[in-house]
Amino acid sequence: MIFKNFVDTHTHTKNSFDGNYTIEEMCEAAIEKGIQIVAFTDHVEMDYFVEKGFDKDAENSYKDIIRAKELYKDKIEICTGIELGEPTYDAALSESLIDSRDYDFVIGSIHNLRKTDDFCELKYDGLDVEALLNTYFEELKILTDWAKFDTFAHLTYPLRYIVGENKIPVDMAKYKSDIDEILDLLASKDKALEINTSGLRQPIGITMPDESIVRRFKELGGKMITVGSDSHFTQHLGAGIEQGMLIAKNAGFDSVYIFRKRQPVEIEII
Ligand SMILES: [Zn+2]
Ligand SMILES: [Zn+2]
Repeated sequence: MIFKNFVDTHTHTKNSFDGNYTIEEMCEAAIEKGIQIVAFTDHVEMDYFVEKGFDKDAENSYKDIIRAKELYKDKIEICTGIELGEPTYDAALSESLIDSRDYDFVIGSIHNLRKTDDFCELKYDGLDVEALLNTYFEELKILTDWAKFDTFAHLTYPLRYIVGENKIPVDMAKYKSDIDEILDLLASKDKALEINTSGLRQPIGITMPDESIVRRFKELGGKMITVGSDSHFTQHLGAGIEQGMLIAKNAGFDSVYIFRKRQPVEIEII
């Protein structure tokens, strides 16, 4: 790490349906890697909250994080996070969930369109990718307008599968005004934009969003960036954070942010 400050604000434990390691294993690995602040942000998908057991996951995740916070308090700062998937598909339930616990940090994300599968599970053969992306960006506008999160996760997530895994080219110029509208809304509502570094270790090979979008966020008045590895494994903790911080710096941001009790805390990129 070329920077002194090393934070990772997007990570998953076994309390995520696709997580692999206990919170203790994740904490030990994070300490080993020299990460100073980590946010655990297990998945809670609001469109299948009770149906797929996310209510239980949310409860277990919260309890584990509170326990780990105390257990490792002399070695690492732990933020009580949550990755709220599709919160606008049941906004009232999402708001009551956020208010029901003392979260530090809420990530807002979209992994699937309404009543469809996650973009990672779709079969793209024969699908109208342009229509799919149009609907995706419309959903992101609704999410940004709702804005009861702290950071906006992995903007351009479907490209990880459409471009990265299925090699279907996408002309992003078609979505420039949609993206501008989203970035504008985030800036005006004082919300953070996440640089999700998981794409760097996947076929797409770039962060989500990429540097051009981070630069555009700065141009449109965006103030806060968060950086997260989206690690589901101990070995991926902190992965790409350095590149993510460099992208933020190149785009004109001097700091990244973490959140304590839903309040932004500036972490200088030094
Ligand atoms: Zn996600
Ligand atoms: Zn995630």
